[in-house]
Amino acid sequence: MKSPAQRRMLRAVVARTERTSPSFVTLTIHGPDLADFTFMGFDQTCRLFFRREGQRELVMPTASHNGWLAQYLLMRTATRPWVRNYTVRAFRPDDGEMDIEFALHGDAGPASVFASQAQPGDPVGLFAEGIGYLPTLEAESQLLVADESAVPALLAILEQAPAGLVGHAYLEVPVSADIRPVSAPRGVTVHWLPRDKDTAIPGQLALKTVMSSEIPTDQRPYCWVAGESRLATGLRRFLVTERDLPRSDVSFLGYWKRGKSSPG
Ligand SMILES: Cc1cc2nc3c(=O)[nH]c(=O)nc-3n(C[C@H](O)[C@H](O)[C@H](O)COP(=O)(O)OP(=O)(O)OC[C@H]3O[C@@H](n4cnc5c(N)ncnc54)[C@H](O)[C@@H]3O)c2cc1C
Repeated sequence: MKSPAQRRMLRAVVARTERTSPSFVTLTIHGPDLADFTFMGFDQTCRLFFRREGQRELVMPTASHNGWLAQYLLMRTATRPWVRNYTVRAFRPDDGEMDIEFALHGDAGPASVFASQAQPGDPVGLFAEGIGYLPTLEAESQLLVADESAVPALLAILEQAPAGLVGHAYLEVPVSADIRPVSAPRGVTVHWLPRDKDTAIPGQLALKTVMSSEIPTDQRPYCWVAGESRLATGLRRFLVTERDLPRSDVSFLGYWKRGKSSPG
């Protein structure tokens, strides 16, 4: 993970919301503080703060460095906001706007509920984090794999990739209606993987599909895999032990863990 050199706590408000497809909603946030957001692109993440149920005000930690976490943990639960990790789906500094795209998963998590009910004017807080997409200099092709939580990150990577990039991108989504047009370099083959089954465990379809696909290891690919923890760790194990890829050529990012809430 490569982190931004400078960052501070920022405030913004929801400008508008858009149901991108049945399982996704995009929140556009805006505000003058976004001029101070250190944008690194690709799969850059931020900590997103939002109010707990019943809170009128968004009370934020103020530390402009990693000390925010200690400060946050000292806050009483009654005043402490929720905080979750989200990818910067798009950043338009000239308009003072940022898009964040949420994969909805019902009422199970506060971020999913917040995204599905967000209204223009709702306050949010932001703290810039870094990027996990760090292709190696030797990479001749790329293998990019995501479940729905990492679809925003993978789409942002493809949109910002150099025109000459070659490889394969696998995007697992809950239903076929989540498939959408992708802006990607011509040399990248995009594979959408709709589960279309309520009971299927997210990430497993992508894991099985990639494991049974032809991965041209003679080209020394760089691999980026993000999503449910077992997708990320399972694919990394497979690539390193079964396909003999150097560990350093595989970035694996567990975005969430089935049955566990994110801390915060
Ligand atoms: C670096 C990074 C970047 C991320 N970027 C994005 C992004 O751009 N968009 C995005 O949607 N998510 C993203 N995530 C994942 C997101 O932070 C988690 O899904 C988070 O747990 C959601 O919070 P919550 O409050 O909705 O649920 P939580 O309170 O954390 O969890 C409640 C329950 O819901 C389950 N759960 C959590 N997430 C999911 C899910 N996606 N699908 C099904 N069940 C789930 C948990 O296992 C738990 O049982 C990112 C995570 C990381 C680490």
